Amino acid sequence: MEKPVLTPPPGLCDRCRHARRITSGRGSQFVLCERSRTDPRFPRYPNLPVVTCAGFEPAPVGS
Ligand code: SF4
Repeated sequence: MEKPVLTPPPGLCDRCRHARRITSGRGSQFVLCERSRTDPRFPRYPNLPVVTCAGFEPAPVGS
């Protein structure tokens, strides 16, 4: 299934294994950074688009 398009575009988070897409009850979409759970350097909800990030790790192919 295709990922829905986020507005604004998520930048690096779109391809990061630590990103989790959240859809609110009103249908807005945003990214939750799973790294924020263990590392305070990362915001729970990053400002999009993220263009540089020390925590970026590519998501597995096909995810
Ligand atoms: S580690 Fe960086 S690129 Fe990955 S989800 Fe968090 S903020 Fe986005």
